[in-house]
Order: sequence, then C-alpha cells, then structure tokens
Amino acid sequence: MFKMTGNIMRNLAVKKSTRRYPYEVREPFAKVRGELLNDIDRCIFCGSCQVKCPSRCIEVDKQAYQWHYDPFACVYCGVCVDICPAKSLYQKPEYRKPTAEKMTVSQQGQPRKKKEKPAKASETAAAAPEPPPEVPPAAAPEQS
Ligand code: SF4
Ligand code: SF4
Repeated sequence: MFKMTGNIMRNLAVKKSTRRYPYEVREPFAKVRGELLNDIDRCIFCGSCQVKCPSRCIEVDKQAYQWHYDPFACVYCGVCVDICPAKSLYQKPEYRKPTAEKMTVSQQGQPRKKKEKPAKASETAAAAPEPPPEVPPAAAPEQS
C-alpha cells in the first residue's frame, strides 16, 4: 500500500507523458512524410505511381485523365513521390487531419498540350517580311 501511494504521489508531481490529441498536436519532425498531394496540372498520367505503390492505393485512368487515391490505405512511404517523373506528387511536412468519414481523393486533369517545334532557319527566313523598296532621292530645286 505504501509502495503504491509513493507511485501515485510521484506520478502526480511529474509532467504527463501523453498529449490530449487531437487538441494538443506535437510539432512534426524535420523531413516528416506527411499528407500526400498531387499537383494535377503537372501530372502526365504515366501510371508509375499506381504500379509502384506497395499498398495499391493509387489508381490512374490514363484515358479519362483522372487520378484516384485512398488516403486510408496509404502508408506514407513516399515511393510514389520519389518515382513521379513529372514531380507532381509531394508530401506536406505535416500529417493529414483525422476524420470520422472515410473518403477517397479523385482529381481530374487535362491532356498535356504538345510543345510546338521551333521553326527551322530556312522557314524563318522565308517567313521574314521583305525590306521596303528603295526610294530615289528627291531632285534639287532649280535656281533662276
Ligand atoms: S507518377 Fe506522377 S505523373 Fe505519373 S501518374 Fe503518378 S502522379 Fe501522375
Ligand atoms: S506514399 Fe506509399 S503507400 Fe502512399 S500512395 Fe505513395 S507509394 Fe502508395
């Protein structure tokens, strides 16, 4: 009994070891792999993230230019971010907020516009405007 009372008194005196999450959130560590986001305007819908994801939580519809993601199945390993060739995937340095409702992320993209090829030198010269015709100098007025 005396031993237990000592433990209780000691625990009342020391600082708490736990936090009242989500009311008290710990500062994230440096380089933490947090919420996964996709800058859909940069995405080229190559499908690499879907192939490499170990938890199969990404689905890429190449025909419809859609990117689907299940954040509840994601383990935040960062593999998709590392292999994304367009650098459209990135992770925020903080964790996703808790939610009571399960949801998936669906993003609609646009087909990428093809870059126009630079015109060849010969085409540029042909398209250049012709110089104006030379005007003869005006005759000097006669003196009487
Ligand atoms: S790897 Fe990157 S560019 Fe390719 S589909 Fe995934 S998000 Fe888009
Ligand atoms: S962070 Fe890992 S688990 Fe999450 S979508 Fe990317 S590859 Fe999949």
